[in-house]
Amino acid sequence: RTVYVNGSYVPEPEAQISIFDRGFLFGDSIYEVSAVIGGNLIDNDLHLDRLERSLRELDIPMPVSRDDIVAMQKTLIARNEIDEGLVYLQVTRGSEDRNFDYSDTLKPNLVAFTQKKKLQNTAAHKDGIKVALVDDIRWDRRDIKTTMLLAQVQAKRQAKASGCIEAWMVQDGFITEGASSTVFIITQDGKIVTRPNSRVTLPGCTRLAVLRAAAAHDLQIEERLFTADEAYLAREAFLTSASSFVTPVVEIAGHRIGDGKPGPITRRVQQIYLELALKQSAA
Ligand code: PLP
Repeated sequence: RTVYVNGSYVPEPEAQISIFDRGFLFGDSIYEVSAVIGGNLIDNDLHLDRLERSLRELDIPMPVSRDDIVAMQKTLIARNEIDEGLVYLQVTRGSEDRNFDYSDTLKPNLVAFTQKKKLQNTAAHKDGIKVALVDDIRWDRRDIKTTMLLAQVQAKRQAKASGCIEAWMVQDGFITEGASSTVFIITQDGKIVTRPNSRVTLPGCTRLAVLRAAAAHDLQIEERLFTADEAYLAREAFLTSASSFVTPVVEIAGHRIGDGKPGPITRRVQQIYLELALKQSAA
């Protein structure tokens, strides 16, 4: 597979980054993951908006222009013949001798790679998934998409121990988000509920696209906090991310949601979002 490192396209085994890279030493870096369908990037503008915002919040300069990033993503997709899958990119603050403080003149590193992955009509999309609940032990700036992901690595591991592939995280009784996804529940009276964006969650790009599309189709949306107890009593539940699109959730911490099968509103949201994604892909 061909990967990208600071302006060069190289075979994966030849890719090199310094052991003094601050992403490696301090988690001092930002990443983004965009989906690819039919060889085209989905919601990529939203991902690049968020990339720019994350970098700005940490005072890391954009390593190259936004247009150059898109061109690079497209080159990787073409070279690796990605029909369906993901493009991962990471910007680190740069490499210099280890020191908590950093030089203001440091040059950021940009690396990227692709992953082939089936994104549509997976078993998870058809049947729904079970999720576990874990404590949200992350720092207070989760709105910045940093590579400091150890809490999520552990959360996924805990989820796996109870036969789940995703964990929903809980803070002060309220669900914040999934380890790598945004969470939604549907109330008994048919409202789609999701937590408002704030510093305690990552503002999901798929979340934004789904909320826009749902509003355009006159689905009822409520942005507010909700507890784990409310989630157990939900009529339906689902999660979103660039890599999982809209995935029904049929069990939360051993509590069956609705009748234990993906519900009609979730199906509608799946369909609306997929149509939108396929439209982008055809554009
Ligand atoms: N929340 C967290 C913590 C994530 O890591 C992710 C994606 O990886 C999401 C939410 C979903 O964001 P997006 O829809 O932009 O992929």
